[in-house]
Amino acid sequence: MTPRDADVIVVGGGLMGAATAFFLRRRGRSVVVLERDRVGQHASGTNFGNVRRQGRFLPQLPLANRAREIWGRLPELIGEDVEFLPTGHLRLACTPEEVGRMEAYARDCRPYGLDLELMSANALRVRFPYLGREAVAGSFSPHDGHANPRLAAPAFARAARRLGATIVEGAEVAAIEKAGEDFSVETADGRRYRAPVVQICAGAWGGQLSARFGEPVPLTPRGPQMGVTEPVPYAVKPVVGVWAEGEAGIYFRQVARGNVVFGGGVWGEVDMVRRRAALDPVSTLGQLPHLRRAMPAFGQLAVIRTWSGIEGYVADRLPVMGASATTPGLYYAFGFSGHGFQLGPAVGEVMAELIDRGRSAVPIDPFGIARFRDAV
Ligand SMILES: Cc1cc2nc3c(=O)[nH]c(=O)nc-3n(C[C@H](O)[C@H](O)[C@H](O)COP(=O)(O)OP(=O)(O)OC[C@H]3O[C@@H](n4cnc5c(N)ncnc54)[C@H](O)[C@@H]3O)c2cc1C
Repeated sequence: MTPRDADVIVVGGGLMGAATAFFLRRRGRSVVVLERDRVGQHASGTNFGNVRRQGRFLPQLPLANRAREIWGRLPELIGEDVEFLPTGHLRLACTPEEVGRMEAYARDCRPYGLDLELMSANALRVRFPYLGREAVAGSFSPHDGHANPRLAAPAFARAARRLGATIVEGAEVAAIEKAGEDFSVETADGRRYRAPVVQICAGAWGGQLSARFGEPVPLTPRGPQMGVTEPVPYAVKPVVGVWAEGEAGIYFRQVARGNVVFGGGVWGEVDMVRRRAALDPVSTLGQLPHLRRAMPAFGQLAVIRTWSGIEGYVADRLPVMGASATTPGLYYAFGFSGHGFQLGPAVGEVMAELIDRGRSAVPIDPFGIARFRDAV
């Protein structure tokens, strides 16, 4: 029998895989991360960068609160600055229905430790004079913010590597088999790894792997549509979004260098085999009127780049996290349904704790894969 390569093999080097590896090493567990492309190349490196708790599924707030606490001390924890700015997250309401949803959420999230400041139209204009006239109210989450997605997963991977993790890029996992106590993991180019624990954090591809263990997940890959403008003087401090959904559901943030990053509206097509997410220029044209309504100065800004990325959306819009229900030693963390960037650091910490101790202090029960036992 070949010797074990590590205590844990992590499949997928996005933010979830990189953060799990980092926290496993802090617990003294040896770990190999197998990433098909480059660390952080897919959703974790192409996302909008929102570090937002406001608006999340309420039972997810303990995990999001834990993540927010880690975001606040990342430079000391991983030794790198990933441009996290706790400048707040503002959501605008333009209709009575949106105001109602906003007020209900502000009330319901309070017991979870999230305090939103509700603002009138006047208060919005005084504090954020660049906003348009259509918002009749807004909710402000002062401790949320944004970070640079290009930096976060590679920074976690480098920190994990400094602690002794093995990170292998260009390693596509083609087969995972349980042989006795251990898993045997084989890459497409024939390398083999052995460990008693495997964690699958393969993002939008996670469902393909979980199905091999009799645990299919209703997961649809989609491409959120992003863009960025030319740089202009730094004025928009918070991340701004709206309480609307569908086409009108846009959001934007300005980075300290001056560019305004934006996204939202309709999703684009993705090609899971070539691993490309299409940016449809029509979707950018559809975003612009909504962006101009939220902030009229958008009308004067040149869009200099657009892009998309591949994200896995689970039917109930909640991630899959926790232990396999069929296979001892197998763990999942994938399908973060458009909101995993903020959660990433806490997902890594919680999964490492779960693997190391068999339980986690932060509740993740609503995200168990067994919820799909009869659904797919
Ligand atoms: C355009 C866009 C905007 C977004 N905006 C936000 C936002 O503002 N805020 C927020 O909180 N979230 C946002 N998200 C969601 C967030 O980016 C994701 O939920 C999060 O990054 C998921 O991380 P992950 O590690 O699970 O997945 P990924 O980053 O996709 O990583 C999975 C990795 O697994 C690898 N992999 C897959 N199959 C295999 C295999 N067989 N062998 C080896 N490796 C494999 C892939 O190559 C990939 O690198 C956005 C997503 C997108 C795409």
